[in-house]
Amino acid sequence: MKSAILATTLSAIFALGGCAGQGNTNPTSHTASSDTLTNAAVNIESGKDYHSFSNPEQISVTHLALDLDVNFDKKVISGDVQLTVKRMQEGNNTLVLDTRDLTIKGVTANGMPVPYSLGKEDSFLGAPLSITVPEGTNKVTVSYQTSPQASGVQWLTPAQTAGKQHPFLFTQSQAIHARSFMPLQDSPQVRVTYSATVHTPKELLAVMSASNDPDTARDGVYEFNMPQPIPAYLIALAVGDLQFKPMGKRTGVYAEPALLDAAADEFADTESMLEVTEKTYGPYRWDRYDLLILPPSFPFGGMENPRLSFITPTVIAGDKSLVSLIAHELAHSWSGNTVTNATWRDLWLNEGFTTYLTYRIMQMVYGDNRYNMEAVLGRQDLQADIDSLAADDEILAIDLRGRDPDAVFSNIPYEKGALFLRELEQKVGRDNFDQFLLNYFEHFAFQSITTDQFMAYLNDTLLNDYADKLSSERIHQWIFQPGIPQGAPVPHSNAFKIVDDARNQWLNGELQAKDIDAKDWVVHQWLYFLNNMPETLSQDQLAELDAVFDLTQSKNNEIAHSWLLMAVENWYEPALPRVHSYLVSIGRNKLVKPIYKALSQTPKGKVLAQKAFAEAKPGYHPLTVKANEGFVD
Ligand SMILES: [Zn+2]
Repeated sequence: MKSAILATTLSAIFALGGCAGQGNTNPTSHTASSDTLTNAAVNIESGKDYHSFSNPEQISVTHLALDLDVNFDKKVISGDVQLTVKRMQEGNNTLVLDTRDLTIKGVTANGMPVPYSLGKEDSFLGAPLSITVPEGTNKVTVSYQTSPQASGVQWLTPAQTAGKQHPFLFTQSQAIHARSFMPLQDSPQVRVTYSATVHTPKELLAVMSASNDPDTARDGVYEFNMPQPIPAYLIALAVGDLQFKPMGKRTGVYAEPALLDAAADEFADTESMLEVTEKTYGPYRWDRYDLLILPPSFPFGGMENPRLSFITPTVIAGDKSLVSLIAHELAHSWSGNTVTNATWRDLWLNEGFTTYLTYRIMQMVYGDNRYNMEAVLGRQDLQADIDSLAADDEILAIDLRGRDPDAVFSNIPYEKGALFLRELEQKVGRDNFDQFLLNYFEHFAFQSITTDQFMAYLNDTLLNDYADKLSSERIHQWIFQPGIPQGAPVPHSNAFKIVDDARNQWLNGELQAKDIDAKDWVVHQWLYFLNNMPETLSQDQLAELDAVFDLTQSKNNEIAHSWLLMAVENWYEPALPRVHSYLVSIGRNKLVKPIYKALSQTPKGKVLAQKAFAEAKPGYHPLTVKANEGFVD
């Protein structure tokens, strides 16, 4: 997923009493010992999922067969899920599933009712559903219905879409929201295949993280199959007035008609990205790779739902300047969807490897200059989190016990994870490191692994082969200590030197804004220019920049974000109407949250925040609402 609810205050928002995992009796299903851990979290059981009630070590779900009806009037999904199970322990017939806000209508096996019970609701884990699976069968069917408030399902009215004619639905399962959409073992260490029949209003198209047929008849009944085993957080559904446009042999885009051509142009390099990634890291294992462009309320940049990444429209900039997001979601097809984290503590194995691959894909497709600029900006994002997070939250193998796993999505698993891999690459050499990654994806293909399993593998491979260049102490420091180890790689970009010079000269009064030679600057240089301004600028300085560069009206959502944040922090009134329109037109949390936070710092800012939030809230995703409502109290 990209990106990234800054954990700075999320941990505060989501820190709810220490009840997570109570009632979860999962022993570890992985054998690696945790006696190598060196941090304070020494009692964490490696491989134990503290965020699921399910019991895959006793009975494990292997396949889901869904038959679902999507009802836009009632804002509910209802139907049946047939679960195929495998008994892992002789004589154990109690299957435990995760649910959240689901109405369970009945459970059957071979057409006969079977006993079940819904346990006590936990404030963010939901409730366990225990089912007695009769001896001699390995299939049970649960009839259920979702709640209109389901945390993983967003219902949009026609007014909240680009086309304004039809409603839209999309799901977001990561981290633990799949359980609000269907009863299942909602732990990343449980991988399932699935099939689905989805009934929708006739004029709409349904798509899933599965086989999608671009030429399917639009008749309101859609069939899907996902033959590769995936964790629950990758199960996804969207329904809307969608059309398809191919971009390459294996790549294409689904979007509302109004966005289709712009999206296909913006992301035209997707096929090249796929090809270079395959060449370096091994075959793409998922058949097609398509993109689904969502309405602007999508809370994230993208979500790597297999075969069909979900993408925010806020990166359609007209100049491909923000397409590293596509490289990121595509990279997940290797690091994440093929080899993923066994628990949310191990997320860095997913997002850190993906962020590393993102940089490399961008370099292969767009060259060194872009690679270096993006690495410098990423390093600055990381530093901002290091400056604001609690030390324990700067640890790659983070302790999430008693917390909502959504708290893990800071820059730490992403950028610190990637920086760690960059150091390994520099020490052993790029070709050797690429070979290591290729072998790693092959070795763990279609598995969900723990940090301990990764370290054991590293020990047998790179550490063994390059004992003169790598040390286990250093690797422990990266994974189990806060901060960034001294001597870590420092990315550098020559393209930013002229930006630093221009900014410094302008701040010193040696240069007027109109004399800054910025006509050839790319978006990255603008971001670097703005993000490294001092915290306080005068009204005259802001007005000068705005007059020369028209920043308040920037059509680039990232540049606009950086500028509007500066405008709020310095209360630059001419930009405030645009702050309002920005907040009510975008729901991507990474872009709106820092602005809400900045507004909340002053009474007059809070008034503006409250007005925008009230207007925008019906269109925001539940996760964006949850992340920002504390700023407008
Ligand atoms: Zn990601």
